[in-house]
Amino acid sequence: MPFPHTVKEEALVRSRRCCCLCNEFAGIYTNVHHIIPESQNGASTIDNAIVLCLRCHGEVGHYNNEHPVGNKYSASELTKRRDAWWTWCEDNPAVPLPKNPVSVSPSRIDLGNDEWLTKSLLHIYNKEDRFYYQVWVKIGIESEEIQPEQISIDFVRGHDDLKLRAGFVEMSASIFRVCCVDGAGKKVAFLVINSLEPHSIYTFEISRLPSCKLSSTKAHKLQIAISSFRDEPAGSGEGANEAFLTFIPPENLQMTAISLVMRRTTK
Ligand SMILES: [Zn+2]
Repeated sequence: MPFPHTVKEEALVRSRRCCCLCNEFAGIYTNVHHIIPESQNGASTIDNAIVLCLRCHGEVGHYNNEHPVGNKYSASELTKRRDAWWTWCEDNPAVPLPKNPVSVSPSRIDLGNDEWLTKSLLHIYNKEDRFYYQVWVKIGIESEEIQPEQISIDFVRGHDDLKLRAGFVEMSASIFRVCCVDGAGKKVAFLVINSLEPHSIYTFEISRLPSCKLSSTKAHKLQIAISSFRDEPAGSGEGANEAFLTFIPPENLQMTAISLVMRRTTK
């Protein structure tokens, strides 16, 4: 049996989408692997799951017992390495990943309660020198009383003026929000930046809409993480009377693509 969606997601979140062996951020190029193989009755539970990048997955999975070269990974070694990485991730939630070019801070935001309306700054960094990244920032909501669309996201600083031309149509759709439910059934908002420039920081102000009234005095928090990034901007194209931009969401969402379609009105 393959891993259930919830187990896969838990493993990806706890690993911060990094490989548990080489600790490199792997983004969508991750494998949730059975430590004890299914063929040996390994369970499809979180205890038996490890996140691996494609390269390490190949090394772990394709060891040839008939023609041994080097040392094979044992199940207990994989478990120890995974636990060590998960412990590090848990102990250092706000620390940017060592080799991750895109990061976000802070990782938690307090939205206040029925007495206080707080505003917090959210920074998204691209440390790379050369690449533009399409970035999906996941905003998880830890409150029963707040809906994703009631979170206010104001652009403070960065480059918002990227224009794309497709034929005669000029459009700007570089930053937007998607509200949905994730694979684990939780309400989330995604802040999507189509093209985060090299060596730049984009800043947003996050709060809740004043119209969103809360009944309880307990804390209402957001959990923030980079869900995916890729070093390609949105795909674009044009038809006879329209132009479109296509964005590819993170793989654990139940949708395959978002397209903005613009009708051509002028020649
Ligand atoms: Zn790896």
